[in-house]
Amino acid sequence: MSVVHVDAQGGAYPIQIAAGRLAQLAGTVPADTSAIAIVTNPTVAALYLAPVKQALAATGKPVHVIELPDGEAYKNWESLNLIFDALLGAHLDRKALIVALGGGVIGDMAGFAAACFMRGVRFVQVPTTLLAQVDSSVGGKTAINHPLGKNMVGAFYQPIAVEVDTDVLKTLPAREISAGLAEVVKYGMIYDLDFFNWCEEQIAPMRRLEQEQIVHAIRRSCEVKAEVVSQDERESGLRAILNFGHTFGHAIESGMGYGQWLHGEAVGCGMIMAAELSALVCGLPAQDVARIKALVQASGCPITPPQWPADRWLELMQVDKKNEGGQLRFVLLDKLGHAKVQAVAPDVVRQALARFTTV
Ligand code: NAD
Ligand code: MG
Repeated sequence: MSVVHVDAQGGAYPIQIAAGRLAQLAGTVPADTSAIAIVTNPTVAALYLAPVKQALAATGKPVHVIELPDGEAYKNWESLNLIFDALLGAHLDRKALIVALGGGVIGDMAGFAAACFMRGVRFVQVPTTLLAQVDSSVGGKTAINHPLGKNMVGAFYQPIAVEVDTDVLKTLPAREISAGLAEVVKYGMIYDLDFFNWCEEQIAPMRRLEQEQIVHAIRRSCEVKAEVVSQDERESGLRAILNFGHTFGHAIESGMGYGQWLHGEAVGCGMIMAAELSALVCGLPAQDVARIKALVQASGCPITPPQWPADRWLELMQVDKKNEGGQLRFVLLDKLGHAKVQAVAPDVVRQALARFTTV
């Protein structure tokens, strides 16, 4: 088994990565736990609830199941309240353990519920999408959406453990795998040239979910994210580099209408655009831009952005959280494997956009 130790302000915890982890979940339940509540959705429950329930029942503790509707559209107050209704209805107390079984949507909501219920109960992340395994389950951010914005209501709250079972990836649609891989290769681009080189060589086996490669990809991704986050838990500086490709990516997601492109797909394409901008602003060599493009393509994500006029792009990117005082700010690569955040004048952004669009 591969283990990544995360040392966060809110507590230290292990990320345990291996095939067959679901069957071992009893081992992560603290002895003084009074009851266990699994939070999941019908899609994941149909595939994995039975083995997870069975594994947790071995502790002898009562096990409750809370099923929320599946989808980003349900990452809201109503679902959060369903969790509280169920926890209170079953008379769970401060010693309850919440188990988040699902992708990033379930993990973010169950984590936020754990942060709030009784002012904080312990929770375990059991991420079942590649994106959740390499990104959302690490770093302690939990949230729900508000009609006025994504992830606008939430808390920093750490799990007591993250249990990554690589077997569950076998039921994920290929598009979801590719979208998760975009975030994987991102860690190489922003932080670790050796890992980028390795991804270039191993992208095909990763897509086929070959055990050795997928475990290494998840492990290194979690390590890089944990390292970056530990230096900047509350996102005052360094943590922003994790958003490489996300300014263009968010514009694609919102401009196309949420759900048309998967988040990771938009980020993949956005990283190619951010690489071109890096070439213009900080001299990233053309051959490195080409390598980034080739790796995104090999991960199975789209590489051609929507054909919008520059004004539309700029308008869509105006709302980005990194912007300060009306200035557009981007995560850029000053070299492959190293990122920084910088303000860029609109004219320069237009120049970069002109390399992608014909309108
Ligand atoms: P998701 O949770 O919606 O899962 C995608 C789909 O796959 C869903 O329909 C889900 O039911 C299904 N699914 C899950 N596991 C499966 C499996 N093993 N087999 C088959 N189907 C499965 O989406 P996601 O991409 O995992 O997560 C996206 C969410 O994560 C967003 O809400 C985003 O805001 C959040 N996020 C949070 C952080 C953070 O730091 N907290 C970081 C990145 C993303
Ligand atoms: Mg992302």
